[in-house]
Amino acid sequence: MKKFMLFLFFGCSGFAQSEYPQDYFKNPLDITLVLSGTFGELRSSHFHAGLDIKTQQREGLKVYSAAEGYVSRIKISHFGYGKALYITHPNGYTTVYGHLQRLSDRLEAYIKECQYDKESFEVEVFPNSEELPVKSNEIIAFSGNTGGSGGPHLHFEIRDNQERPINPMLFGIDIKDSRAPFVSAVYAYPKDDAALINGKNERVPLRLIPQTNGSYEVEKITASGNIGFGITSYDKQDLAPNNNGVSNIQTFFNGNKSLEVDFKRFSFDESKHIKRYIDYGYFKSKRSRIQKLFIEKNNPLTLFKDAYDNGYIHIEDSTASVFKIRIRDYKGKETWVNIPIAGKNETLESLPYDAMQEKSLVYSNRSTTLKSNNITVNFFENTLYDDALIDFRVSSDTLHLHEDSIPLQKNFYINYDLSHYKDEHLDKLFIARLYGYYKKPSYVYTKRKGKVLSAGSKIFGTYTLAMDTVAPSIKPLNFQDKKWLSKYRYLKVKIEDELSGISKYRATVNGKWILMEYDYKTNTLVHDFNDNVIKDTKNELKIIVTDNVGNSSTFEAIFFRK
Ligand SMILES: [Zn+2]
Repeated sequence: MKKFMLFLFFGCSGFAQSEYPQDYFKNPLDITLVLSGTFGELRSSHFHAGLDIKTQQREGLKVYSAAEGYVSRIKISHFGYGKALYITHPNGYTTVYGHLQRLSDRLEAYIKECQYDKESFEVEVFPNSEELPVKSNEIIAFSGNTGGSGGPHLHFEIRDNQERPINPMLFGIDIKDSRAPFVSAVYAYPKDDAALINGKNERVPLRLIPQTNGSYEVEKITASGNIGFGITSYDKQDLAPNNNGVSNIQTFFNGNKSLEVDFKRFSFDESKHIKRYIDYGYFKSKRSRIQKLFIEKNNPLTLFKDAYDNGYIHIEDSTASVFKIRIRDYKGKETWVNIPIAGKNETLESLPYDAMQEKSLVYSNRSTTLKSNNITVNFFENTLYDDALIDFRVSSDTLHLHEDSIPLQKNFYINYDLSHYKDEHLDKLFIARLYGYYKKPSYVYTKRKGKVLSAGSKIFGTYTLAMDTVAPSIKPLNFQDKKWLSKYRYLKVKIEDELSGISKYRATVNGKWILMEYDYKTNTLVHDFNDNVIKDTKNELKIIVTDNVGNSSTFEAIFFRK
C-alpha cells in the first residue's frame, strides 16, 4: 500500500509544479490577467512560447518587472517580438516582454544611445549584470503592438537557464478558468496501406456526440490494422472568448496509456516541427489544426511522453475495444472522448485513384535534384519529413512545385539560369512566389551569382520570375516642405514599395543620421523630436529608401524649429 501511494504521489501533476518556484513572478501588468494566447498554443510555424496578455485593446499600459533582476538583453526588430526586453533573475530564470511600445525612460535612453551609435533602428544588445539592474515591480516598459503583433497585447515568457520557454502558469500565475477544454472534431488515421477505418484507407472524420457531463462519445467505428487518432481541441477561459491552447493530452487503449502530449516546456529548436505535429495538409486547406496523437518518423518533438508503439494502436478482427482521449487545460480541468472500435477485416471499398499526372519522387533521407529547362530545384537531405511524390512542372519561367500541402523541415533551393535574358533587366529580376487566390507575386529573398538567381523556400507552390523597376514611394504624413515644426512631437513619413518590398531606409537631418522607427504594418517611419538630436533652426531632411532589387528613392524637405 505504501509503495502504491508513493507511485501516485510521483505521478501526479502537483509534484511536477513544485519544481518551479511558486509566486516568485508577479503579473507584469496591474490589471486582471486576461489571455488571448496560452503557452504551447499552435501557431502557423511554431508553438507559442509564452502568454499573450490582453491590454484592454490599447497600448501604453505600464509593464512591471515580474521580479527583481537585471536587463540581460534588449532586441528591437521590425518583425517578431518588435521591441523586446529580457530580464534575468537571481534564480536563473529569464522573463521576456514583447511587442512593447517603448521602454521606461532609463532603458529607452540606454537603447537610443545604441541605436544612434549603430545608426540603426534594429539593434540587439546584451548588457552585463551590473549595467541595468531592475527592482521587483519596477516599471520597465509600456505595452504596445510592435513587430509581428496583430493587435495590442503583451507577450510574456519565462525561460529557464537553457533558453527553453516554460509555461508561466507552472509558476503559480493564476487565470480565471472554470471551463474544461472542448473538442470540435476527432479523426482516425490509417498508419499504412493495410489499415482500414470504416472501410476506408484514409483520414476519416468521426461523429462526435457531446454528453451532458461535458464528455464526448464517438459513434462506433469499424477498423482493422494499425491506426491512430487526431483531434481539434481548445480551451476557453472565463474572461475572454478566445480559443486558447490546451495543456495536456493523454490517450488510452483498452485502459492502457498509449501516448501523452505535454505542453510544459520545449526548446526553440524544436518549435518549427509543429508542421509535423499537426495535419499540415488539412490545415492548409481548412485552416483548422488537427493535433495528431501519434508520432510519425522524423518527429523530434519532446512534447511527447510515454509513447507506446508511437501512439498507434492495432485492431484485430472480431474484437471490441475502446480508445479514450483525455484533454486537460492549465487548471487541470479535463474533458474525455470515448471511441468504441469494432475490429472487422473488410476489403477496401474503392482503391485510391492515382491520377496519371507525372510526379517526381523526392526523398527525405538523401538529396534530390529536379531540373527542367533553365530551372533547377535542389532538395538536400532531411528537407522533407517523409519521401513524397510531388508535382513538378515548368512552363516558361513559371515553376509549379506541388502545392502547399506537404510540410518541409528545411529550405529547398530554386535556381534560375538567366543566360537567355537580356542584360539590361537582369538586376531588376527576382524570384517570387505566387500566393493566394489572385496569385499575387511575393518577393523571395533572391541571391544573384553571375547569370543565376537562387532563392531558398520552405513552402511548396508556384514560383516565377518577377521584375521590379519602380522605386519606393516616400510621402510626408504630418508635415509640409518649408514649414515651422516647433510644436511637433513626431515627424511621420509613409514609405511603400509595390513589388519587391522595402529592403532598407536611412534618414538624415543636416547630414546627421536620425532615428526613425519603421512599422511595416502601417508602412510608416516615425522620428521622435524628444530624441533631442535636431538642434538647428533650419533643417534639411533627407530620406533614402531602397527596395529589394536595389531601386532607390530620395525624399528631401526643409523644416524649421526653435
Ligand atoms: Zn505571444
